[in-house]
Amino acid sequence: MTTYPKNFLLDIPKTDLHLHLDGSLRLSTLIDLAKENKITLPSTTEEGLNELVFKKNYESLDEYLKGFGYTCSVMQNKEALERIAYELAYDNCREGVRYIEVRFAPQLLMDEKKRLEDIIIAVDRGLQRAKKEINSNLREDEPPFEYGLIICAMRFFNENFSKYYAWFSQIHRYSSKIDKIKLASIELANGIVKIANESDAQIVGFDVAGSEYGNPAENHKKSYDIIHNHFIHKTIHAGEAYGSESIFQAITRLHTERIGHGLFLFDENMIFSDKIRDKKRYIEELANYIAERRITIEVCLTSNLQTVPSIKRISDHSFGKMLEQQLSVTLCTDNRLVSHTTVTNEIELATQNFNIPPKTLKNIIIYGFKRSFFYHPYVKKREYVRKVIDYYEKIEKKYGINQE
Ligand SMILES: [Zn+2]
Repeated sequence: MTTYPKNFLLDIPKTDLHLHLDGSLRLSTLIDLAKENKITLPSTTEEGLNELVFKKNYESLDEYLKGFGYTCSVMQNKEALERIAYELAYDNCREGVRYIEVRFAPQLLMDEKKRLEDIIIAVDRGLQRAKKEINSNLREDEPPFEYGLIICAMRFFNENFSKYYAWFSQIHRYSSKIDKIKLASIELANGIVKIANESDAQIVGFDVAGSEYGNPAENHKKSYDIIHNHFIHKTIHAGEAYGSESIFQAITRLHTERIGHGLFLFDENMIFSDKIRDKKRYIEELANYIAERRITIEVCLTSNLQTVPSIKRISDHSFGKMLEQQLSVTLCTDNRLVSHTTVTNEIELATQNFNIPPKTLKNIIIYGFKRSFFYHPYVKKREYVRKVIDYYEKIEKKYGINQE
């Protein structure tokens, strides 16, 4: 195990490619906005909310998800969305995170006052404003702050999820539950394509979030086709509640370029189809394909530990095996508030629990930049990544971290 000085981990340029807006508010902002909008929270103090809602350890996934009800309840106007996005950029910047991809599901927030474009543009405005401020104060050698937006469809919804979903369900009252999920996803994909074409919002990717259990990715085939046909990038939450079959589906049916979590990739017990007779070989071939194609796994250690009771310690997480097999991996927070974490904390946990010598650490960090869905043209991305690598090496030198 290699240990690194905390300041080194803070100073190196970092990314967060799996970061939910509604799970990453500042607690003080949540309290502020609740007051402003006359929304009752279980407590009005940060300590109280940490004790009752945003815990360090959760009993179940349901308990983990409870916090999102409160955060979404204050994300009900454009000003609030802009503020939350703006602060998120600064919170990341303060711990040396230079690139973030912020994801959210606009259909959870839509109502008569907020159309899809209003929500996306409000979030983009907050990030853009922070980016301009942050980048006007950088030293010459520092890589600038950049961001992208990933828009999420939901794997599952019901009428209580939002006003929009309530209307959607009523209007499509003759469609089955699954057909409604498919239709809402297609509608979102069409909207994203239009907004990406007609606005300056830095939309870079599409994702499907929400409970995987009983809600196959296959339902979103048509919407991923729409996204794919318009050169927008694709990631998807997969392998969090199911195993390699769900990851297989995401890659072969939805053309995904990255996988959110991928936790159960290597778990033979999580394969349920009787058609797969040789489970070991199936996993080997899939892992090999993922490695070879450099499909990047967005690993969220703390979040997985909190929502998957079968992982007792971080060292039990499949991240170790991903490293052994030289998959392309990146460390992410998932939810800064709900998971009580930061990018630096996730990297520190990884280095404390797995064998990550300096060369491996550098690869993991730089892969975050390389496999990002960078908004600007590829030539610019190459320049940006070069600048990041040069800066990273400078920090290594400063702390006497040796590559060999
Ligand atoms: Zn997630």
